[in-house]
Amino acid sequence: MQPEQPVCARVHKLNQLYSEADATAIIAAAIEEFGAGLAAVSSFGADSAVLLHMIAQQLPSLPVLFLQTNKHFPATLRYQAQLVQELGLTDVRDLLPDSAALKAHDPLGALCLTDKDCCCDLRKTQPLAQGIAPFQAWFTGRKQFQAATRRDLPVFELVGQRVRINPLSRWSAQQLEAYRQKHHLPTHPLAGQGYRSIGCMPCTRPVDEGEDQRAGRWSGSGKTECGIHLSGLEHYLTPQNNKGAQP
Ligand code: SF4
Repeated sequence: MQPEQPVCARVHKLNQLYSEADATAIIAAAIEEFGAGLAAVSSFGADSAVLLHMIAQQLPSLPVLFLQTNKHFPATLRYQAQLVQELGLTDVRDLLPDSAALKAHDPLGALCLTDKDCCCDLRKTQPLAQGIAPFQAWFTGRKQFQAATRRDLPVFELVGQRVRINPLSRWSAQQLEAYRQKHHLPTHPLAGQGYRSIGCMPCTRPVDEGEDQRAGRWSGSGKTECGIHLSGLEHYLTPQNNKGAQP
């Protein structure tokens, strides 16, 4: 990134240039733009294979960050290992919760039953802020169709002084499935059981026909996002809250 150009102006220009581009062109542009300052964040969930395959085609050594909350379905961890091997990804990094913070605030591992926001903060938002701190920009696999809260999701987003990139933001579920079939990508083992957005085991249920893809996440709690895509991450990425936060 050109240091003299404000990040917000850069994001505006990138959206002007690439918001209608296809996903592989967006990924190529981001690699060119951010170089070694680029990473990806993946849940290795139901739709993750498509973006990871596109990344592997262009830069298999790109750092891929995975939030190892220690609350995942065993099937997700098996799927992660399968995708890493089949796609040839060479730099997948597990981001772990801080053990002292867990000991202090979730010694029994049951915080998700009583305070989901605090649990997500400990197990997702804070570890992601630590893991993403050395990077200027990162890919996510979020799509507009997944939920009403994502209808206006842009390709390039400003997060503090960093950039979040959503190459598949305008893709439909049908496009994802067509791409998966064309490239013979494996499906998540739970996808056939109605799980269409897959996160931690205690906070994920299958969805019914006609429900939002993400309706099975934190179902019944009023919570729709874990914080890694909200202002909590930006908060932890500010220098005063994160020693390694200077991008
Ligand atoms: S999704 Fe559930 S188990 Fe996972 S970090 Fe959030 S509250 Fe905890």
